[in-house]
Amino acid sequence: MIPYGKQQISQQDIDAVTSVLKSDFLTQGPIVPAFEQAVADYCGANYGIASNSATSALHLACMALELSEGDWLWTSPITFVASANCGRYCGASIDFVDIDPATFNLCPKQLEQKLICAKQAGKLPKALVAVHMGGLSCDMAAIAKLAQQYDFKVIEDASHAIGGSYQNHKVGSCQYSDISIFSFHPVKIITSGEGGMAVTNDKTLAERMAQLRSHGVTRNPELIQAHDEGPWYYEQLALGYNYRITDLQAALGLSQLERLDQFIEQRHQLVKQYQSAFTNLPLQLQQVPSDCVSAYHLFLINLTPNAQVTRRELYDHLKAKGINVNVHYIPVHTQPYYQSLGFKAGDFPNAENYYQLALTLPLYPDLQPEQQQHVINSVKELLCS
Ligand SMILES: *Cc1c(COP(=O)(O)O)cnc(C)c1O
Repeated sequence: MIPYGKQQISQQDIDAVTSVLKSDFLTQGPIVPAFEQAVADYCGANYGIASNSATSALHLACMALELSEGDWLWTSPITFVASANCGRYCGASIDFVDIDPATFNLCPKQLEQKLICAKQAGKLPKALVAVHMGGLSCDMAAIAKLAQQYDFKVIEDASHAIGGSYQNHKVGSCQYSDISIFSFHPVKIITSGEGGMAVTNDKTLAERMAQLRSHGVTRNPELIQAHDEGPWYYEQLALGYNYRITDLQAALGLSQLERLDQFIEQRHQLVKQYQSAFTNLPLQLQQVPSDCVSAYHLFLINLTPNAQVTRRELYDHLKAKGINVNVHYIPVHTQPYYQSLGFKAGDFPNAENYYQLALTLPLYPDLQPEQQQHVINSVKELLCS
């Protein structure tokens, strides 16, 4: 089976992890801060806070922005459930902004319309999670303008997008957001096994997230409230969690980061092949605005409504050819959990139409030319017949 995504592990990666195993620290050693610094430097952000997953980093971001019951968090319905769940962890209510059918990202025009209504109803969001679908940045300048006008915070769910850029800045620069989140799950652009990171330019947010990542405990003399009772002394200032990443994982992430630009280049080469092979087919590809460079975590295709085959037929056909295609994503608001909160099919028609026709084709640096040709031939076989 050709998978839809796959990690690439080099001898250098293995050596980096092995050297941690032979060192004094398996966790809370020197490699985690080195990884944080390297990712922050790469993106052009001031601070990086690594965690054991992007899901926990999203939760840390919501906590740092003080989301709680009575607040609203908005996100895109076309994302992984974690982009919405992070608000629920804090007791906030969730709502969604429908997507732009061309970019598959949350639509800034729909966002503005929804904000106008929400203002009248007194239900403006406290935070928006902008998801960079497949590695393509949202229109962050438009979102930031609305954030200023309507006074809400912006979290970029850049789980797909490390290595991509927007208006000549790397995704994660936080030029137009408060916090950006990366995932290092093996299927994503670079991996640490499990792992995630929040990056920000705001010192207070960075300190809060670092503290909440480890039980809400601090040893920082500036933050200690009682008098310091001795070198053993620490204080718990808030209810935090154990969301720490290990040095083993950080070593893998740090080693992978060295190949990030190469990975992005390889993904772009593969995407070019797909794009030129798929002209004149009843397929709609993700439209990339001229001020974006996608990280291309996913190669997303959408059947056009005039296609003579269904998504299910194409899915089954490719599976039968040994190609493990996938679907990103089932609209979050149609999940039974979110239906139990009052959402229903029909609420976000662009997202639902997109989902009906969506398929994700294999894309990863080690996808071999003959494998990609097999994918292309198999797609054409069904769509051209
Ligand atoms: C993968 C993913 C997450 C969660 O990442 P984990 O590191 O697995 O917790 C969140 N949001 C999006 C959009 C993702 O693709």
